[in-house]
Order: sequence, then structure tokens, then C-alpha cells
Amino acid sequence: MPEKTNLLGFTLPALTEWFAERGEKPFRARQVFRWIHQRGVDDFDAMTDLAKGLREKLHAEAEVIPPQVLSEHRSADGTTKWLFDVGVGNGVETVYIPEDDRGTLCVSSQVGCALACTFCSTGRQGFNRDLSAGEILGQLWVANRRLQALAAEGVPYRIDLRHDNREIEPEKDERRPVTNVVMMGMGEPLNNFVPVTDAMEVMLDDNAYGLSRRRVTLSTSGVVPQIRKLKERLPVALAVSLHAPNDLLRSEIMPINRTYPIQELLAACRDYLEVAPRDFITFEYVMLSGVNDQPQHARELAVLLKDTPAKLNLIPFNPFGDSGFQRTDMESVRRFQDILIKAGYIATVRRTRGDDIDAACGQLAGQVVNRMKKKTIRIHQEAA
Ligand code: SAH
Ligand code: SF4
Repeated sequence: MPEKTNLLGFTLPALTEWFAERGEKPFRARQVFRWIHQRGVDDFDAMTDLAKGLREKLHAEAEVIPPQVLSEHRSADGTTKWLFDVGVGNGVETVYIPEDDRGTLCVSSQVGCALACTFCSTGRQGFNRDLSAGEILGQLWVANRRLQALAAEGVPYRIDLRHDNREIEPEKDERRPVTNVVMMGMGEPLNNFVPVTDAMEVMLDDNAYGLSRRRVTLSTSGVVPQIRKLKERLPVALAVSLHAPNDLLRSEIMPINRTYPIQELLAACRDYLEVAPRDFITFEYVMLSGVNDQPQHARELAVLLKDTPAKLNLIPFNPFGDSGFQRTDMESVRRFQDILIKAGYIATVRRTRGDDIDAACGQLAGQVVNRMKKKTIRIHQEAA
């Protein structure tokens, strides 16, 4: 029997074409698309407004299959982490972060990451493969469904952070738990360009999740040519992992800087702002004790960014295994922040959430069978 087509990763235009090839009208594609994404339905029989003939055709040729959940962990602060099965020995993680008025999903784009930033646990594991659009969207599809099921059991998907981490009932008109997506999970999203942008197109589609471009943020370590491509294809909110105020230090902790140094990166950021949904770029800066967290680094950063509309987000380093790095103490983080604020920047400190379940930034390890390493071993063996 021929393999069935998984419709989960299709954009609406692609689904419409798939339907057209089978003699079906565009509005039928739209109906199915809405059932899948707006209603979270994977069973064609439950799509009650479709003709029986079409449902049979879909049964024969298609399916809606999300990646399988291997585990689910819930933190004391409501943060929820899932590990998804993405093939032999491999898993990727997705994290839901509730607040009182929104729910943010941190989505993975690759199994591992080839860019090997020294402070990142995903980077330490090496790279296995890119995720498909269906696997990327599947994380959102599953999270919404699962959080809705939990809500039906009395576990709300909003939390009052300002007071006591109390779970609160969501507003009545909020139909879906996830209101914001950040492409900040495992992997470098711009190195998996087509599946990531296809998945984001569906996130933005009013017939699917209907998120505005401001509510979808892509975080990149600075793959300059791909930032330019993103500008043409789908300019969502952009976050850039800067982490150092000069090339010498940045190249040491982020090897990609040797290919795309800071000034090239900042030029691409300024171009991107012509079409970005916000009038600034968010620069992420992970605070590594004794490495990039000194007052002189803050002053250097303030000068570096003077021509680029920027918002700075300082991230306390999240430790893992034998990372070799330490978290900067809060007092030094505040001092660093003050220097930036006095220089006229908006600088915030990211609140660490879900670290009791290893769900904080940079802690996503999943399970990665490092294919690059295997390849090197094979080459060594062949050479021997
Ligand atoms: N590859 C993309 C997106 C994924 S990482 C990127 O690098 O931007 C999301 C953010 O977490 C990045 O800013 C990354 O630098 C940061 N990060 C990585 N390891 C971290 C750690 N151990 N502690 C805190 N933040 C970390
Ligand atoms: Fe990859 Fe981002 Fe981690 Fe760097 S910080 S290794 S780019 S996931």
C-alpha cells in the first residue's frame, strides 16, 4: 500500500494544490485545514461537514499524525515540557510557559544543532537532522490539545505570576492556550528554512492559528544570508543571540561569528527592520560569569548597538551537566542592566521559568544521536 500523506505540515496553498490534484475544490481544502488546526481534529470521520466520498478518499490517501509524546513534565510554576519522539533514539523538547494573559510555546526546529555554541546544551550534543514542517507544527498542535484536555480536568493554562503562581481561569473568549510562539527550542531555525517558514505560515494563517507576526518570534544565532531571506519570505519578530560585545569574544563562544561577524549581522538586522512587525530587534545576551558580564562589556555593548534599534534581553545562564560556565550573580546582572538603561536602552532580565524540570532556556537536551560524530568516526575508520 502506498504511504499515506501526513497533512499536518501542509500550508493552506499546498493543501489546496493537493486537493486540486484530486479534483477537489479549494474550499474543501480550507475546511479540512480548519478542522485540523482550529479544532485540533485528526480523524476525518469527525469532520462532519465533509461529503462521505471525500472522507473516504482522505482515509485512503491521507492522515494527520503529530510526533508522539514520550514524556510530559509540569513545573511548580505551571511550565510544561514535552519530549517528542522524532525517530530512532532521537527526541526534541517543547516548552509551554503560562502567564496571566498569554501562553508562550517554545518550539524546536532541529534535532540537535550544528552550530556548537559553547554555553548551550543542545549545541554540545551535535546535530542529527532537521525537523519537518509537520513535526514543527505538531509541537503546537499537540500542546494546544493537551493543555485544553488538562483545562477540562481543572488544570488551567494561565497563571498569575505577579502574585502567587496561582492557576487562574482563562478568559472565556480565549479559545486556545498558546497565544505566542518563540522559535527558541532546540536547533537553529534559519538553518532549516523551508520547513520552519512553512510552519510559521500556518501559525499566522487565520484559517489555522491566526497568530499575528508580532506573536511569533524567531531566534537566530545570526545566519546572515538567511535573515535576509526571512525578510522576503515571512518577516516575523526577530530575536538575535548576541552574547558578546566584540568579535573576539563572540567568536570564542559562538563559532558562527567566524563566518558572519558582528557588523555584518547588525547590518542585516537594520535591513530586516524595514519590514519587521516591531520597530526593534531583540538582542539576547546570556550572562556568563566572568566571561561576558563585566561593566566594560555593557559599556562596549551600548556603543556597539547605537545605530541599531535594539531591545536587550539579559538571560541568566542556565547551567547543565559539565558546562564549564557559571551563572552571573543577580547583583552583577542588575549592574549590567543599569549601564544599558542609563545609555538609553530598554534592557530586561529574563525571568527563569521551569528550571526545576530542566525546561529553561538552553537546557533543552532532548535526545540526540549525533550523526556528525558518527560520520567522523566512519571517516576515521575508512582512513585507518
Ligand atoms: N538557535 C537559536 C535558537 C535556540 S536557543 C539561537 O541560538 O538563537 C534560544 C536562546 O537560548 C538563545 O539566545 C541561546 O543563545 C540561549 N541559550 C543557549 N544556551 C543557554 C543557556 N545554557 N542558558 C541560557 N540561555 C541559553
Ligand atoms: Fe544552536 Fe542556538 Fe544552541 Fe547555538 S545557542 S548551539 S545556535 S541552539
